[in-house]
Amino acid sequence: MANVILLGPPGAGKGTQAKRLEQTRGMVQLSTGDMLKEAIAKGTELGKRVEGIMARGELVTDEIVIGLIEDKMKTGAKGGFIFDGFPRTLKQADALGELLARTGQRLDAVIEMQVDDAALVARITGRFTCGNCGAVYHDVTHPTKVAGICDACGSTNLKRRADDNEETLKTRLMEYYKKTSPLIGYYYAKGQLSAVDGLADVDVVAEAIASVLDKA
Ligand code: ADP
Ligand code: AMP
Repeated sequence: MANVILLGPPGAGKGTQAKRLEQTRGMVQLSTGDMLKEAIAKGTELGKRVEGIMARGELVTDEIVIGLIEDKMKTGAKGGFIFDGFPRTLKQADALGELLARTGQRLDAVIEMQVDDAALVARITGRFTCGNCGAVYHDVTHPTKVAGICDACGSTNLKRRADDNEETLKTRLMEYYKKTSPLIGYYYAKGQLSAVDGLADVDVVAEAIASVLDKA
C-alpha cells in the first residue's frame, strides 16, 4: 500500500499513469480535475461556480479542492491513493499532510514527471478521453485501435476537453509554474521527491514509477 502524488504540468502524463497504477496495483486515483469536471457535467452549484475559472485555465480556490479530497479520502483505498492534479499550491500540500496525519496515513512518494513545454502543446492538443471509463488517448501517440471506440470499455463516448487548446494551455502552464512548481522544492526539502522522465514511452514511464514505489 502506498500513497503517491504525481506532480507535473498539464499533459505530463499524470492521468495516463494513474489509470495504470489503478489497474496494476489496486490503487485509487484521486483527480481533482476529474471531480470538478464531473460537477460541471452534472450542473451542480459547485460546477457552476468553477466552470468559468476552469475554462480560462486558472486554478479554483484551495478550499474547494481540499474539501473534495477530504470527502473522497473518507472511503479509503486498500492499495493507497494516487493524487493526480492535487496538491497544486503550498496551502493544498500542507492540507494534504494534515489530512493524511489525521487519518494515520503517510505520503510514500512524490513523483515529479519531467517534460518540456514543446511536448506539452502536442500532447494537450491531441488528447481525447473516454467519457465512460476515463481511458486517456492521443491522436498520434495513442489512438484507439478502432476509430471512435474506446479500447478499454467499447464506449463510443469519446470526448475532448474544452480547455485543451493552445490558448488556455498558456494560462494553465503559467498557473503551474507560479503556483505548483514550488511544490518540487517543498517535497525535495522533505526528502520525498523522485523524478521520472515524462517524455519517455508510456511503458518506460510506468516502469520508472513502479521502481520508485517499490523502494518507497
Ligand atoms: P495529465 O493528466 O498530466 O494532464 P495525460 O495523462 O492526460 O496528462 O496525458 C496527456 C496526453 O499525452 C494524452 O493524450 C496522453 O495519451 C498522452 N501521453 C501521456 N503519456 C505519454 C507518453 N509517455 N508519451 C506520449 N504521449 C503520452
Ligand atoms: P486537470 O484535469 O488536472 O488538468 O484540471 C483541470 C482544471 O481544474 C485546472 O485547470 C483547474 O482549473 C482545476 N483544478 C484541478 N485541480 C485543481 C487543484 N488542485 N487546485 C486548483 N484548481 C484545480
